[in-house]
Amino acid sequence: MTLEESIHALRTGRVSSTELTRAYLEQITSLEPEIHAFISLTPELALQQAQEADRRWSDWRKAPSQPPPLLLGLPLVVKDVLCVADVPCTCGSRILENFRPPYHATAVQRLLDAGMVLLGKTNTDEFAMGSSTENSAYGVTHNPWDVQRVPGGSSGGSAAAVSAHMAPLALGTDTGGSVRQPAAYCGVTGIKPTYGRVSRYGLVAFGSSLDVVGVFGREARDVARALVLISGQDPRDATSSALPPPQVDFDHSPTQALHGLKVGIPEEYFSAGLQPEVRQAVEQAISQLQDLGAQLQTVHLPHTSYALPVYYLIAPAEASANLARYDGVRFGQRAESETIAELFFRTRGRYFGAEVKRRIMLGTYALSAGYYQAYYGQAQKVRTLIREDFARAFTALDILAAPVTPTTAFPIGEHADDPLAMYMEDALTLPANLAGIPALAFPVGFDAKGLPIGMQIMASHFNEPLLFRVAHAYQQVTDWHTRLPAILSRG
Ligand code: GLN
Repeated sequence: MTLEESIHALRTGRVSSTELTRAYLEQITSLEPEIHAFISLTPELALQQAQEADRRWSDWRKAPSQPPPLLLGLPLVVKDVLCVADVPCTCGSRILENFRPPYHATAVQRLLDAGMVLLGKTNTDEFAMGSSTENSAYGVTHNPWDVQRVPGGSSGGSAAAVSAHMAPLALGTDTGGSVRQPAAYCGVTGIKPTYGRVSRYGLVAFGSSLDVVGVFGREARDVARALVLISGQDPRDATSSALPPPQVDFDHSPTQALHGLKVGIPEEYFSAGLQPEVRQAVEQAISQLQDLGAQLQTVHLPHTSYALPVYYLIAPAEASANLARYDGVRFGQRAESETIAELFFRTRGRYFGAEVKRRIMLGTYALSAGYYQAYYGQAQKVRTLIREDFARAFTALDILAAPVTPTTAFPIGEHADDPLAMYMEDALTLPANLAGIPALAFPVGFDAKGLPIGMQIMASHFNEPLLFRVAHAYQQVTDWHTRLPAILSRG
């Protein structure tokens, strides 16, 4: 069932949340050995929450008053960098193997308050550092469209779970592309909201000026339903915005929704390295927007190529500070040692993975006294230029449309020994993070190998409703988002 069908079925009482939850748990049992989307499963908690949801539904049916929350009784999975009280939160790292947070992240809290049912915590690159989920200490997640390939990352487990119908909705995080890139690779829809749209409280920090909590679903409308619930100010995160949650309206016809919309095509995102099929599918999707009434215009974002070096200075710099807290004293694992210095060295040396250590070293170097201005200071200045590129574009344009990634999903192991090639994965997603603007990724076709292709649309700060309106219009006239990986149709 689609999310809309499930919402309807719960409302009319045709299925119960318990039945729905059991069906998803069965799907997980049958596909998890091949996909490995999860770090931990919470079936008992899920069935308990489903029973509670069923009680709320039946109370309402007996005495219909205010309708219950739309997502009451619907299953959810959460990337393992977001805290859920009393459920392990590993961040894909050995260093937090035994860490059970005593509280919920605000985004999780709000969805549980709305009556959603938690099925489990999904796999991620260690501390969300990576683009393939291969940096998880708990094994790699496999792409449901081709299990020899990566699902993308770092929210690869969440994307794969939605793609393989192990959950209708998933939370992820996007610091440099970690919702959009796996959404593209797994053929699902995912949003990176405006920085500050969703509280970061209870999200284990990676790059604090970049981190945002995002949502995966099969289509834009599903994603919007969850984003509306998790948005809004939180006294526990000073960077959360006081604006009300986005007002999203799906009543327009596709041509009403797109009439007169000014769509910018940023030339820098269509450079030579693009896989020809990706270019073709994205151009085709853009011309469909035009057929629905949008006006197209080429635009230049001249500082785009600096996004990669800027991000790989700022994100590691912030990470090196954020990860200082894992010292063997306050959280997680502790290595046996004689002295306090040895305790720090051994714990961090033994329980952090290679990519996390690389980032800590890069970040520490970029922040060190003699180099601070030349690296971190300079990167911050160029970040402003990237932000201004977008601000200029949005004075004349409503949205920008571009590929999410230069290629489709790559084989597991392909970039294992080449961190730079892995970093290049993010060339087209990083700019939106550096500027703090919202971006939505959704499927627009397949390559010759049958692997999904994603397009992203970007808008000015807090303009998520426009992104949803455009993607929903597109999804009403196309069916890419309804295609199923072969693994799902196996008898
Ligand atoms: N792939 C990027 C990185 O490794 C972005 C990750 C993310 O968005 N969490 O830093």
